[in-house]
Amino acid sequence: MEHNLPFREKFKRTLETRVQKVRGGCWLWTGSCATGYGVFMYKKRNVGAHRASWIYHVGDIPDGKFICHKCDVRNCINPKHLFLGDYKSNMTDRSAKGRHPNAQLTRAQAVEAFTSVESNAALARKFGVAGSVVSRVRMRQAYTWATEGLPAPPSRSRRLKYFNSWV
Ligand SMILES: [Zn+2]
Repeated sequence: MEHNLPFREKFKRTLETRVQKVRGGCWLWTGSCATGYGVFMYKKRNVGAHRASWIYHVGDIPDGKFICHKCDVRNCINPKHLFLGDYKSNMTDRSAKGRHPNAQLTRAQAVEAFTSVESNAALARKFGVAGSVVSRVRMRQAYTWATEGLPAPPSRSRRLKYFNSWV
């Protein structure tokens, strides 16, 4: 049975089916995510996919250590983009993320930004990013790896119509 597989075997299979390698070298987790981080289910427990990837490729995570992202892409599990940090570097890493306009959305959020009829400002508030990040996604100037192949986003007039219909 799938759920009885040893950790390495299960993670190896997941790597083959739940990871999309994209430009920039990120290995995006396409399985379930929580707060932007990939989730790997093992023995009925949720493990951060980036943590599982570290354990699989590098080794155990010492107590009290965090696995941080050099690339700021939370659902990336490329071990080369990960580093072992302490609580402080994890916090620094998180606050640094807030300053990187290009790497603040998860794939799912970028897709949502692209396809949603909500305004740039509403989505920006929802995702905690600048409005310019959302508008760049919609103009296909950013996150094109996430929106490739999707039909054009709803026009501004369609978005306005959507809002007016609620008034
Ligand atoms: Zn990465």
